[in-house]
Amino acid sequence: MELEGKEKLGWILKTGWLGRCPHCGKGRMFASWLKLAKRCDACGLDYSFASPDDGPAFFAMTIISFPLVGFAIWLELAYSPGWWVHLLTSGPLILGSCIASLRPLKGWIVASQYVNKAEEAGSEELARRLRARDAGL
Ligand SMILES: [Zn+2]
Repeated sequence: MELEGKEKLGWILKTGWLGRCPHCGKGRMFASWLKLAKRCDACGLDYSFASPDDGPAFFAMTIISFPLVGFAIWLELAYSPGWWVHLLTSGPLILGSCIASLRPLKGWIVASQYVNKAEEAGSEELARRLRARDAGL
């Protein structure tokens, strides 16, 4: 499966958002909320290549949290509401948005790593052997 350009991006976004296997698009990527499955239950793809590390948390913080904190600061400066307004709006909004976005962000990172054949510098031989093994699925 060699995808290019928009097709590649569409596949990454679709499988990551749905938490589906980036190889076949059918099996599940996650064993639980944020824990990756060991293998795809449809095609057997081994998820040991995936290392999203703290990427989902970083993107949740920079893409989701910072703008919402900006909103909370604007709300405070513009209207000076009581602290309870932030307790009921800003706090849950920031926390809920960050937690809800972790799974799709992790799915997109893992799908992107698979589709783009991401590998750590110096591990080219290991990555080549893993791909050869996966090709024989
Ligand atoms: Zn699969």
